[in-house]
Amino acid sequence: MTTANRIISIETHRAPPASHEVIVAVSIGDESAAEDRRWTVRSVLQAMDRAERFYSQAPNGRRARVQRYTCGGCHHEHIRTHTGDVAIHNLTNLAHTSA
Ligand SMILES: [Zn+2]
Repeated sequence: MTTANRIISIETHRAPPASHEVIVAVSIGDESAAEDRRWTVRSVLQAMDRAERFYSQAPNGRRARVQRYTCGGCHHEHIRTHTGDVAIHNLTNLAHTSA
């Protein structure tokens, strides 16, 4: 069975060019663990390579998929809410801290 990781908060950073704000790290909530785990986006992308999935959850319990994408601005890979799931929940609505 594929592992699905719930993202409960995000860390953002303003990156050039044009100071676009990108997610650089996330916290994964694990109900069996006492503490949340911090994952860098690099770790998230590596997990996606292993077919692990990530999602955020709306207050009503519905899940919004998280997808990787290559940024048109900096040509690096970032993560965001799947464009088809933005109406369910958006990662950017989670609590976030600036790195
Ligand atoms: Zn970018």
